[in-house]
Amino acid sequence: MATPSPYPPHFKFDHSLARALDGFYAPAQAAPAPAPHLIVLNRPLATALGLDAVALDSEIGAAIFSGNHLPHGAMPLAQVYAGHQFGNFVPMLGDGRAMLLGEVLGRDGRRDIQLKGSGRTPFSRGGDGRAALGPVLREYLVSEAMHALGIPTTRALAAVSTGEHVWRNAKVPGAVLTRVAASHIRVGTFQFFAARGETDKVKQLADYVIARHYPALADSPQPYLRLLEAVAEAQAMLVARWMQVGFVHGVMNTDNTTMSGETIDYGPCAFMDAYSAHAVFSSIDLQGRYAYNNQPVMARWNMARLAETLLPLIHPDENEALRFADAVIAAFPTRYSAHWLTGMRAKLGLNTTDTGDTELIHWLLAIMQEQDADFSLVFRRLSTAVRGDVEPVRALLNHAADFDDWLARWLARRRQETSPAHERAAAMDRVNPRVIPRNHRVEAALAAATEQHDFAPFHELLAAITNPFDERPEFAQYAEPAPASFGPFTTFCGT
Ligand code: AMP
Ligand code: MG
Repeated sequence: MATPSPYPPHFKFDHSLARALDGFYAPAQAAPAPAPHLIVLNRPLATALGLDAVALDSEIGAAIFSGNHLPHGAMPLAQVYAGHQFGNFVPMLGDGRAMLLGEVLGRDGRRDIQLKGSGRTPFSRGGDGRAALGPVLREYLVSEAMHALGIPTTRALAAVSTGEHVWRNAKVPGAVLTRVAASHIRVGTFQFFAARGETDKVKQLADYVIARHYPALADSPQPYLRLLEAVAEAQAMLVARWMQVGFVHGVMNTDNTTMSGETIDYGPCAFMDAYSAHAVFSSIDLQGRYAYNNQPVMARWNMARLAETLLPLIHPDENEALRFADAVIAAFPTRYSAHWLTGMRAKLGLNTTDTGDTELIHWLLAIMQEQDADFSLVFRRLSTAVRGDVEPVRALLNHAADFDDWLARWLARRRQETSPAHERAAAMDRVNPRVIPRNHRVEAALAAATEQHDFAPFHELLAAITNPFDERPEFAQYAEPAPASFGPFTTFCGT
């Protein structure tokens, strides 16, 4: 009789991608980790995925989430994709250090479970297939913060240290992140097949994406045009949400642009403290291609690249196809602006609409830029102003005279509102976070973990950012901006 496996079958895998998209991936195998240690398991997420959180929060979890033990039913594979990286087309990228274990049907639907940093794959090119502990913890923190902020994103299920070092600029501890996503299909996945002229494969992929993410479009007379529209809508909404929390993604390449509309790939990303329309944090973004204010422009550019791949499916006549696709791309700024304005009105506590609202918002942003004011704190303290005390927010704007003019205009505008002030203030506190993952806090947590093997700051920061809207005294320090000594902040590509 065979010895029963010490690992219970925690995962009820289904492999819809592997079934439907043969030829879109290669089998993969994790490299062994010498001494895996489970740093963190996202228990609520595990439960939502239908997994046994208690059983996984153990050495079993460490074995599974390092890639050492393949859970029953897993079918590890690396997906192929191409992508425009900083505007240059790279025909062959693919999962160079990630492997999909499979999909599970959780509370929120079908989700990919992927190990990132688990070793080389057929798409690794010159890379080592590994991930360093610092970037793994950064992705864990920031993706979970984004989720807590209500922004569509991939999630973090677990982080495991491997017990092995990897070489970056120096010897650093290695780790594996378990990433959960609605899917890992990117604009770059379409580009891979379109660039090779494989229209049948593009169609197969589009049909799969429609079935998985946009099933309502299946019966539409123009499903591929509608798909383009649906992804453009999802991305317009997503980038508007980023803008509303001061998030700079940093590497909005087409291979980092999902078809599902989830934020993916937390490499050189950062939240801004002081508001700057042109904020860039990434050390490699020398031209400011992915600067804060350029994000909607780049999202539109990425949607144009998606449109190109779909043209032969949209209409057999090339000119007709172009005409249809162009209309969707041309409408992107309008879509984006609508989402942006709705969200910004909510941040200002405005439920009604007024033609002067866009100008009112831009005026505030201009004053914030002029005064180097903290983006998150200004919005958060506006609710205190609604409750009757304007001083805290005035202090953030250095008591500037034009801010007093702005306050007067905003007060006049608020007279159009019908709901009681206390309700509006409470609603504002549900959209203007008190706590974001501030760069100095993230850096401190990563440094403690990588240099001192001290994970307490990571866990405390995680607790703070996963409750971003609550006014909790124990996390008050996490609401504060960086001390002046922190200086200008630069991020490095998170490999
Ligand atoms: P990213 O900058 O993380 O979006 O990655 C861009 C491409 O480089 C993707 O195809 C990755 O799979 C690949 N890549 C990044 N880091 C590594 C690594 N350490 N080993 C192999 N491939 C990598
Ligand atoms: Mg990527």
